[in-house]
Amino acid sequence: MRLTLALVFVAAMGFCQSPGIYKKPFKAMGCGFEVTVVAMDAQEADVFLEAAIGNIRRIEALISSWVDNSQTGQINQSAGIEPVEVDPELFYLIKRAIAISELTDGAFDISYASMDKIWKFDGSVTQLPDSSIVKESVKLVGYKNIQMNEANHSVFLPEKGMKIGFGAIGKGYAADHTMNLLKSLGVTSGIINASGDLRAWGQQPNGAPWQIGVKNPLNKNKVFVLLPLVNQALVTSGNYEKFITINGKRYAHIIDPRTGYPSSGLTSVTIIASSAELADALATSVFVMGKDVGLDFVNQLKDVECVLVQDDGMVFYSDHINAKELN
Ligand code: ADP
Ligand code: MG
Repeated sequence: MRLTLALVFVAAMGFCQSPGIYKKPFKAMGCGFEVTVVAMDAQEADVFLEAAIGNIRRIEALISSWVDNSQTGQINQSAGIEPVEVDPELFYLIKRAIAISELTDGAFDISYASMDKIWKFDGSVTQLPDSSIVKESVKLVGYKNIQMNEANHSVFLPEKGMKIGFGAIGKGYAADHTMNLLKSLGVTSGIINASGDLRAWGQQPNGAPWQIGVKNPLNKNKVFVLLPLVNQALVTSGNYEKFITINGKRYAHIIDPRTGYPSSGLTSVTIIASSAELADALATSVFVMGKDVGLDFVNQLKDVECVLVQDDGMVFYSDHINAKELN
């Protein structure tokens, strides 16, 4: 009798075990990532966390443009020479990137990458490059020139020197894809944080939505607004980490593909959208558009919201954002 009771008690304990939050930070795509999952115990969480990390590294190997033997590296090396057949995953990422270029009137353009020769954010650029050099490099930029062949999933950049790069969309894509992988493994709740590009799903174990704090880069990185995320993505693009200062003016690492010059005016752009890929690309686009055009653009999009911080510290919100400002 006693034994049965004890067994019933153990079974009840097992049944009542409550899920917890498990996190793992790691480096990928040149920045800090953190994956959070809600799981029953550390052992179960570990399986999910390792699967997430493996998937992010796989995506990095596919899309990174600084690794010559990646498929993206091969597309760039074959510019002006021949088309390159790639995995459907990369092919359709490029197609979606081109669609975002169309949506943003070219503010977002993965073929911006040929300009990384003149705008280096490693401290080596101390004066504005000659305008003729900028003009020349802009000639190689143009998403409309990327040739996509659906029949064999090949990609061709027609000009020698033309280049594509996923700096402004790759982390968001990795976050979405990894969330879908974890969902397929049965993870009902979590966050993929790709250096501030976040994709959240489900809710905290106590039933509350995930709350994300956005920092004001001009105010000692203090969190100034809390945003609840319900199956959404939140992405911040900022000029406070990577920038160059010339004659006292700060230039962001985000370049206007139409002029060839870095954008200025905004310090950070936070976008909330239904996917991290879209939010990532739109954060970069709004940076290029600037405050007025950017706000107007976001207000016209369904299910997309934004928080903008101007260089002078002024904060602007899109019309329908659900944000709680902190003092
Ligand atoms: P962060 O790196 O702060 O998350 P973004 O997502 O905005 O910022 O990505 C910026 C990166 O995107 C740049 O470092 C560069 O690699 C690339 N990039 C810069 N300008 C553009 C642009 N107009 N369109 C697409 N990609 C861009
Ligand atoms: Mg981006």
